[in-house]
Amino acid sequence: MYKKIILLLFLMIFILCGCSKPQKEPVVNTLDDITKRGEVVIGIKTDAYPFGFKDKNGKFAGYDVDLANMIGQEIFKKKGKVKFVPVTSSDRIMKLFSEDVDMIIATMSVTPSRLQILDFSNPYYIAGQAVMVRKGSKIKGLSDLNGKKVIIVFGTSSESSLRAAVPRVSILGYKTYSEAVKALKQGKGDAIVSDDTILIGLSLKDGNLVLLPKRYSREPYAVAFRKGIESEDLVRVVNYVIDESARNGTLQKLQKNYGIKKY
Ligand code: GLU
Repeated sequence: MYKKIILLLFLMIFILCGCSKPQKEPVVNTLDDITKRGEVVIGIKTDAYPFGFKDKNGKFAGYDVDLANMIGQEIFKKKGKVKFVPVTSSDRIMKLFSEDVDMIIATMSVTPSRLQILDFSNPYYIAGQAVMVRKGSKIKGLSDLNGKKVIIVFGTSSESSLRAAVPRVSILGYKTYSEAVKALKQGKGDAIVSDDTILIGLSLKDGNLVLLPKRYSREPYAVAFRKGIESEDLVRVVNYVIDESARNGTLQKLQKNYGIKKY
């Protein structure tokens, strides 16, 4: 009798844990699903002019948006649309993992640590980290940041490279670039370290901010996907769009139109 009860208990635990049979996770959000859905959902920045921003009519615009539209065109030809979802540096990976978006095109650099958890397309732009200061600042480069308070945006590659390059720096993090700029202008920190692409846009808008000329890293921007087989076909289409538009000069034309300079 006891034996039977114990056996029954084991069986129930086994079934409740879902371990009775190795369960196969269905592969969702593949290129096939997206084509059937008729909509691809892409995470885009709104605070990274000229890569991702809102234009005066409140519409998503920028180099990343144009690339997203080219991808949508390639996926659907005519019948389908691209839906944009706003992301920030600090929430973009979370929005990808929570399946709010199918991919992110958000000034995102390919880094060894990100490669462990994400799949990436081929690069579509190479940026470099730079330093932005208030006008009149004595800071002339990275080496002047030792012992200083430096502002970064959470979730960016700047934090780790800054800690490695400037051991005695004290870091102040914000969620968005507008908060970071506000803090710099209020004197809460001595400089902002981030990609030249984003800092150029910010310094051009504000005469009190100066972007220093030196670049300190190589930041290959690529489209990011959830890691795994669900993304294989998607990555292939996106790579085709990137490689083809680099080959036929479309990417270079866009860079010129947006005034994105390569350093
Ligand atoms: N490209 C860098 C990164 O991926 C910084 C720019 C950004 O905020 O996206 O972290």
